[in-house]
Amino acid sequence: MPVKDTRMCKGQAKKELKKQLGSLFKSMDFVSNNFLDSEKMGKKEFQVFFNIYQQLGLAWEFLGLQCKHWDGYKKTKGKKETCKICGKVKGADDFYILLTRKGPLKLGMKVKPNSKKTFETKEDAQIVNDTIDFHGALVNVDVHNSYKSRLFGKGINMAAERIVNVKEENVECNIDGHLIHVRLRDKYRKVRGKRYGGFPWEVRRKDLKHFPVIFDFDEKYRFLGLTILR
Ligand SMILES: [Zn+2]
Repeated sequence: MPVKDTRMCKGQAKKELKKQLGSLFKSMDFVSNNFLDSEKMGKKEFQVFFNIYQQLGLAWEFLGLQCKHWDGYKKTKGKKETCKICGKVKGADDFYILLTRKGPLKLGMKVKPNSKKTFETKEDAQIVNDTIDFHGALVNVDVHNSYKSRLFGKGINMAAERIVNVKEENVECNIDGHLIHVRLRDKYRKVRGKRYGGFPWEVRRKDLKHFPVIFDFDEKYRFLGLTILR
């Protein structure tokens, strides 16, 4: 049964998150008990441990984002309610910045479809559907298992898929397991009349000249990529 399957996924995620948060809280306690409260410590050394504590705090925020607060909230002294698992205050905005000095910024884990079952609704089949505005470029990652869609009247099964969409100005790129689709959405490229598509060899040579595309290939004519001139 699909329902059982989703619960299993949630159960695993919850278990793993609890484990990670548990060891993180231990590290935070360790730093705060052994170093931040120490009176003998020099200014420089204190700053180092203070920074470590801040960084652990960042890790806490990041892990907290993955928490769906499955076990509910408990009341604290200040009449606030905090999540029993991640300790986040109920109703507080999710706000986080993940900064690293070296290497790429990382947000979330790479996920792929994780079930062979066909779920009743897209909601049940959804694993992740997040969008980030990253320095002006929009990136969306949509990962879902197979589900029954009523989009086209009678129900059809939508395949399990990991779809990545990138939008930069008027260029949109869709990447999934089968296709890489690039679309140019400039104002002057609005379609008038019918829309066509075809392999290059299906297009007449004189019409091919309308397409500013360069193919990359090797000696054996293996396709390596392509460049589109804007
Ligand atoms: Zn939580």
